This record gives sequence, C-alpha cells and structure tokens, in this order.
Amino acid sequence: MIRARYRHVRWTSTPNVTAHAPPTLHLFRCTTKDRSGNPCGAESGESEEFDTAQVWKFRHLRDHQGHTEYEQVVRRAWHLVPEDSR
Ligand SMILES: [Zn+2]
Repeated sequence: MIRARYRHVRWTSTPNVTAHAPPTLHLFRCTTKDRSGNPCGAESGESEEFDTAQVWKFRHLRDHQGHTEYEQVVRRAWHLVPEDSR
C-alpha cells in the first residue's frame, strides 16, 4: 500500500530571478508591411542584452528604407513558488 500526505498549498506566479534561471532574452521583429500587406518579418535574433537587439532596428532601417514598424519579443523564465516558502 502506498500512502501519501497532501496539504493545500497556495502558489504565487513570479518571474524567476534565481541564479539558475535562464537569462531573459530580447528580440525585435520588423512588422512593416509591403504593398500586399505582408509583414517583413525580419528579426534581430535573441540577445541577453536589450541594447544589442535595439540597435538592430537602426541597421535594418538603414538597409531597408521605410521599415519603421517593429514589435518586441521578450522571453523570460517564470516559476510558481509556494507562498509559505518565501
Ligand atoms: Zn523590415
């Protein structure tokens, strides 16, 4: 016979800022549409440094005149923490 003991636990959802958490990654994507309404879709590539991803937009504009619309994508680790463990 297997026995288990359970108790009610309240959880909090929070960004994982612990030392072992994966780094937060930043990416920008060009959303400028062509004459047919299709978005460019070019991406900066993910970077741990916000400024590195940010600078890509200016290089992209230099090489693609009129591409001025972008969206930011952030990948951040989150975790659930039992409330009584804090
Ligand atoms: Zn573009």
